[in-house]
Amino acid sequence: MARPGRHRDEEAARPEAAKAAPSAGATQPSPLAVGEATPSMAQFLEIKTANPDSILWYRMGDFYELFFDDAVVASQALGIVLTKRGKHQGQDIPMCGVPVHRADEYLQRLIRQGYRVAVCEQLEDPAEARKRGAKAVVRRDVVRLVTPGTLTEETLLDARTRNYLTALFRAPGGAPSGPDAPLVGSDATVALASLDISTGECEVGEALGRDLPGEFVRLGASEVIVADALLADGELKAWIGRAGAAATPVPAASFDSLAGERELKARLGVADLGAFGAFSRAELAAIGALLRYVDLTQIGKKPVVRAPRRLGREETLVIDAASRASLELVRATSGEKSGSLLDAIDRTVTGAGARELAARLATPLTDVRAIEGRLDAVAFLVGEAPLRDAIRETLKGAPDLARAVSRLAFGRGGPRDLQSIALGLAAAGEAARHLRGRQGGIGLPDEIARLLARIEGQGAELLRMLTAALVDDPPHLKRDGGFVRKDYRAALDEAVALRDDSRRVMAELEGRYVELTGIRTLKVRHNNILGYFIEVTQTNARPLTEPPLAETFRHRQSMANAMRFTTAELAEIEGRIASAADRALAIEQEIFAELAAAVAGEERTLSDVAAALAELDHTAALADLAHHERYVRPVIDASDAFEIRGGRHPVVEQALQRARAGPFVANDCVLGRGGVERPPGFDEMPDARIWLVTGPNMAGKSTFLRQNALIAILAQMGSFVPAAEARIGVVDRLFSRVGAADDLARGRSTFMVEMVETAAILNQATARSLVILDEIGRGTATFDGLSIAWAAVEYLHEESKVRVLFATHYHELTALAGRLASVASVTMDVKEWHDEIVFLHRVKAGAADRSYGIQVAKLAGLPEPVIARAREVLTLLEKADRRRGQGNGPLEELPLFAAARPAGSPAPRGPAPVETALDAINPDELSPKAALETLYRLKRIRAGEDGP
Ligand code: ATP
Repeated sequence: MARPGRHRDEEAARPEAAKAAPSAGATQPSPLAVGEATPSMAQFLEIKTANPDSILWYRMGDFYELFFDDAVVASQALGIVLTKRGKHQGQDIPMCGVPVHRADEYLQRLIRQGYRVAVCEQLEDPAEARKRGAKAVVRRDVVRLVTPGTLTEETLLDARTRNYLTALFRAPGGAPSGPDAPLVGSDATVALASLDISTGECEVGEALGRDLPGEFVRLGASEVIVADALLADGELKAWIGRAGAAATPVPAASFDSLAGERELKARLGVADLGAFGAFSRAELAAIGALLRYVDLTQIGKKPVVRAPRRLGREETLVIDAASRASLELVRATSGEKSGSLLDAIDRTVTGAGARELAARLATPLTDVRAIEGRLDAVAFLVGEAPLRDAIRETLKGAPDLARAVSRLAFGRGGPRDLQSIALGLAAAGEAARHLRGRQGGIGLPDEIARLLARIEGQGAELLRMLTAALVDDPPHLKRDGGFVRKDYRAALDEAVALRDDSRRVMAELEGRYVELTGIRTLKVRHNNILGYFIEVTQTNARPLTEPPLAETFRHRQSMANAMRFTTAELAEIEGRIASAADRALAIEQEIFAELAAAVAGEERTLSDVAAALAELDHTAALADLAHHERYVRPVIDASDAFEIRGGRHPVVEQALQRARAGPFVANDCVLGRGGVERPPGFDEMPDARIWLVTGPNMAGKSTFLRQNALIAILAQMGSFVPAAEARIGVVDRLFSRVGAADDLARGRSTFMVEMVETAAILNQATARSLVILDEIGRGTATFDGLSIAWAAVEYLHEESKVRVLFATHYHELTALAGRLASVASVTMDVKEWHDEIVFLHRVKAGAADRSYGIQVAKLAGLPEPVIARAREVLTLLEKADRRRGQGNGPLEELPLFAAARPAGSPAPRGPAPVETALDAINPDELSPKAALETLYRLKRIRAGEDGP
């Protein structure tokens, strides 16, 4: 069946796809039956057999027809009528069809549902085929495989979202657990190569098996190709599906590093790859599979490939999949773009700029110099408002240059794509003039100066050519002509004049025939079947069928109310019109080919100009955001600082503004000062690596936690941040555990998910990391949960020495603040008033004294009797608790983590009494009765009721 690998949950959620399979193979074409089929059926079967994994769209005139299982599946997926046509091996052949003019729309729907489509076209005119004999079949073949990761059409793509095809290769060796062990979660090295064939954007790098889920989300690919044996790993397949990509198996032999190197050199037009970085063999193998798959699906047509971006593992801020999801970076938890950080900060004016912004947000950097370079560029445009506005105004009108170039490279472009290139080049020229206009371009920050160099004066000759050739508003398709400007080519003007003149002659002829016959209503008309003809009503027709007029007028067709005729002169003029029109069309097609070739010659320059414009839009958009939302430039260094003054949550702040729900309350967060001394009494906030945040529900704990994580991400992507002041020692890994949901599909309860995520943090966080923990241990019994949370905080403090914000409802935990040097308590300020609670959303030093859970429940509208009863129960529980002891009771006597277990070493452990007793037993000497007694004794020893 034509379905790429999708993971289990999705399969279950789409029962119609499974149901779509008709009763066991009855309608499945059998290749063995080709010999008995009619010639056209034999052709279909041959092509279908060559494309078993795709739904075959078989071109017949104005329709793409689908047969057998493909028809059944597609009719269900598209909601179109399933009919039948003829028989195969005695069975009806199911069939459905898609009109050619609506092909894109249906294609999009199938691809969105995860199908692959093989588009089979007629490769010759049916008239040509007829010349070979009445029964000759029109030549057809598949011209393209359409898969989620290989789209180029505007209608199939989201203008503001990148469309990556990613190849994953597991590097041989290095994996302690062998090549068949699960990849996700392991320390095995993988290479990932990604290409957006609609723009040429390319990215290559290596990752560890354990970071793969986060990488899949970061790349946001539509399709991931993997060696078929590797895809047997269900866990890997599931993670690809969770990141929203189709997993496509390809033969392991596609991952050929030599072929990858050769192809990449050819695509980049270089003899050596040295200038683009040192690619590992594994990376080249992934590139090899990637380019081979493009070749296969595009039937040999070559994509534009830009110089690959190659970021080492240490050069980017690592964020795992769960943290990316919980921080709602590019999508909100609802799955929508709105509500995400990306949506809140995206002020770009072009699709390409939006794609650049999303890419940089997904991949914040760790290199201080690189981040500073980006910040310099943003800062420059923040300070130059008129220049920024002029650039944005210019770019607003710029079309998607990169995608137009790519469509032309694949031979799918039209006149409008040529025009896009002209408009894109013109915009680049204008943007360059704006930048030059500012003091002649002197004193620009490096990043901007480099962008200027990439766009200034590029493609000038091509621009002149395209502007001279194209009409102002060219049609989408080249098929019908009409896109070349008058005066561009004399031969075309001549043919067009003749064609149009002949039309005038036709009108004159009609006038003459009206006079000759005396029939006022006589008309010269045209249709596609008869061509030109003379039409009169039945009542007027008679004189034309009798001498003398019958000598001139020849009868062609009788209709209910009309009769149609032709004349020798009419046929002669028709021939002239047709040949002039044909000639004009042929010349236009020739001109199109010339222009497309000129574009192909400048392909690399054009895609570089496109990328530079995208970066310029991105940078100007961040500057615009900073200006309008009052963001500041963060200070980034290599210290351990994390000092945010007056920080705000970028998404919540805007939501409050939109809802006119009062101002956002800015808050400080100081997890380290990076050696910067502040005068005593500078602020009342504690300076500690770990902050325990307590406070009632709804008071703003989650908001506070997340805003600090988002500020770190924004800063390291090179953006200004929503704060009054920010100083951040570069973060290497960011972990955010904020709430958890069941993952029942994978057999994990809420608590299990929480523990798996917590384990990842405890195992991977370094002193340079930032950890945001919003509650841990709540999914289990109070004491279990509290104990786990307690031990986790101690571990983070003593072992990881990481910067942590930890929100908790376990007030007992705040006892740690007094015991561990670098743990402090802060709380969300609230006001109580007549037993009601008012949230001030202000973070202050200290711990919350109570939870206010019942007040919040009341706000939520729990029935009054339930609230009253809850108060009663709470009072009783509190009384009982007080009887048991004061304060945190036993917890206060607990030895410190460090004392309980020396740092870095396993807990000291002597033999337990049970073990001593076990050692003393010789089972061979025991009678059955004595053995039973020994067992009972061991149980007593373990319970402390007996000695060894
Ligand atoms: P819970 O413990 O139930 O998860 P919480 O303490 O984490 O609650 P949040 O979800 O962070 O509370 O915040 C609740 C709401 O309070 C937010 O949706 C927002 O509308 C508002 N809010 C939070 N922080 C602020 C702030 N600093 N300024 C203004 N409003 C805020």
